[in-house]
Amino acid sequence: MSEKTEFIGDCQCGEVRFAATPPTLFCAHCHCDFCRRAHGAPVVTWFGVPENQFRFLAGEDLVTWYASSKQGRRGFCTRCGSTLFYTSSLSPGEVHIARANMQGGIDRPPDLHVFFDAHVEWLEFNDDLPRLDKENELLAHYKKVEV
Ligand SMILES: [Zn+2]
Ligand SMILES: [Zn+2]
Repeated sequence: MSEKTEFIGDCQCGEVRFAATPPTLFCAHCHCDFCRRAHGAPVVTWFGVPENQFRFLAGEDLVTWYASSKQGRRGFCTRCGSTLFYTSSLSPGEVHIARANMQGGIDRPPDLHVFFDAHVEWLEFNDDLPRLDKENELLAHYKKVEV
């Protein structure tokens, strides 16, 4: 696939640069407490690609991987602190990338909200996307699809 089709992203200081090749697997707004705290944001929008569709363009050695749970780890830029990546043993072979760190568009808009039961009360969400709670059967299915 030509480089033109890649989606390019970077951290705030620009030292970490990376590329993701479509097609992406999903794009979702996550309301979980782990994401909220790790990013200092009310909601974190993620998209996923198979790991063989992800590559670093620069600064891979500047990425620190923090184990945020038994299953998951989060990659951030050691220099500027931008929280960029998530990988999990629950979704092996996938890299999840913070949508807001991409320089431009990707191949899909956000599909849904996940872990909506954990959403903050101080921000309104007015879209019509599905809102899945952690016990939602559809989310369980979605997680199975991810794996
Ligand atoms: Zn940085
Ligand atoms: Zn989350």
